[in-house]
Amino acid sequence: MEDSYTDILVIGSGVAGSYAAMHAASLGARVTLVTKTRLLSGSTRWAQGGVAFPSDSDDIPSHLRDTIKAGRGLVDERVSKTILTEALEQLGHLIELGVHFDPDPALEGGHSKPRVLHINGDESGLHLITFLHDHLPTEVSTLENHYAAHLISDGSSVAGAVFWKDGNPGSPLAINAGSTVIATGGIGQVYSFTTNPAESTGDGIALAYRSGALVRDMELVQFHPTVLANGGLISEACRGAGAELINNRGERFMKRYDPAGELAPRDIVSRSIYQETLETGGVYIDLRPIQDFAHKFPTVYSSIVALGIDPISDPVPVQPAAHFLMGGILTDDFGATSLTNLYAVGEAASTGFHGANRLASNSLLEGLVMGSRAAGKAVESSGSASLQKPEPTAVPGTPAEVRRHIRTTMTKFASVARDEKGLSTGLTKISELPISTARNAAEAETENLRLIALMILNGALKRQESRGSHYRTDYPEMRVDAMHIEQCNLREDSARD
Ligand SMILES: Cc1cc2nc3c(=O)[nH]c(=O)nc-3n(C[C@H](O)[C@H](O)[C@H](O)COP(=O)(O)OP(=O)(O)OC[C@H]3O[C@@H](n4cnc5c(N)ncnc54)[C@H](O)[C@@H]3O)c2cc1C
Repeated sequence: MEDSYTDILVIGSGVAGSYAAMHAASLGARVTLVTKTRLLSGSTRWAQGGVAFPSDSDDIPSHLRDTIKAGRGLVDERVSKTILTEALEQLGHLIELGVHFDPDPALEGGHSKPRVLHINGDESGLHLITFLHDHLPTEVSTLENHYAAHLISDGSSVAGAVFWKDGNPGSPLAINAGSTVIATGGIGQVYSFTTNPAESTGDGIALAYRSGALVRDMELVQFHPTVLANGGLISEACRGAGAELINNRGERFMKRYDPAGELAPRDIVSRSIYQETLETGGVYIDLRPIQDFAHKFPTVYSSIVALGIDPISDPVPVQPAAHFLMGGILTDDFGATSLTNLYAVGEAASTGFHGANRLASNSLLEGLVMGSRAAGKAVESSGSASLQKPEPTAVPGTPAEVRRHIRTTMTKFASVARDEKGLSTGLTKISELPISTARNAAEAETENLRLIALMILNGALKRQESRGSHYRTDYPEMRVDAMHIEQCNLREDSARD
């Protein structure tokens, strides 16, 4: 096996990984930033809304309150305060580097005031990530088309990862590292209907889990309420700018579900749309109240027009779709996981910032702040790493054609509304799927999706309540005691207060 050494190995080149790589290099470390496809991959480039920065230090308590309110009792107040306080420092850093934020902050669902900063209208994620890639220092080596197949780990610490060039197990590359940072993004591909790109197969979470890391709250999947039939997303900012939701009878209905109407948190809007669709046969978003819509939201406009609908004259059909994972690899407030020298940042991590329901545009913010915090700790701890020799490992795989079955099963039994019978049926169906040794990255990814599906189903069965994005029709109330659900493949799963 070919092998190499780097101080800091970052797996994933979205906002969290790229910013972590940039920071680690600024601290003098040699960094290798690896992605399974192109540098420009993952969810970050598709983010439209922007980044939710507190407007100034006086706004931190209010931003914190909104975050806690949306998170329904599971937000870690201490971690969130740290992230929001450091947000302003990172904003200053980005401006200093040359990022041009649009002048007027936008209002988004769940925020009590306009504080979401856009970069060039509704292409914020694309502009942010392209900027970060263009400004990576020379100490960062980048590797494209290298699929992280497994971690180099003895079950208690991690010393790098093994990659398959072009997804081929026949040409493995072991990258030994002082510290390893997982920044592989979310899991949306486990559902048939998602806003996430093809790369979002939960690889980093599955890899960490297999090596014995604790994962947490995997059942907490946020569904974006307003998604088009082609997977295009109508950003929250459109509702902030005045768009209205109407049912098949032409009635506005959101005020019946929440006094904030269209600006209610995502879980409430998703459930309301789900319910109104069941009762009336469909839900539409009316974008006509937004003046100059095509100019203000060019990306949204063109994905609607691509469906043959003219949003200037007609309401547009929408439905909820899997969008964001609040759970993930359990970390502390520096991104450290339960395994020594393994860090996790961005959507793959569960820091406690998003609780049971992410507040709009808080995820790019978390990626930036936690990327920089984890980089600092990863550099600090990398010297203490005791390197293990990478062993040839058989990576589990599931035939790629099974992927469709996993996705339809999850969509049917574990999406916006869940119950014991459906979740148990889903668990049986997914548990029965065949596993063998992966012959390529597609099979390894499919097995990762299978593992993620099991984690979601197990967590959803254990969470016998409705909280945030997790809605159980058989347990419609929120429990008084808020609990996290941890899972680990090396010990019994547990629920903790
Ligand atoms: C359509 C859409 C709109 C959104 N809008 C907003 C918004 O307005 N504001 C906001 O805050 N959030 C938004 N979000 C959420 C936000 O974009 C994501 O949570 C965030 O970008 C995740 O960043 P990340 O760095 O963790 O991962 P990603 O950006 O998803 O990057 C993951 C990286 O990991 C790589 N990777 C994955 N597996 C492997 C592997 N096995 N080996 C090697 N590399 C691997 C991928 O190729 C990719 O480079 C949106 C998400 C979507 C999908």
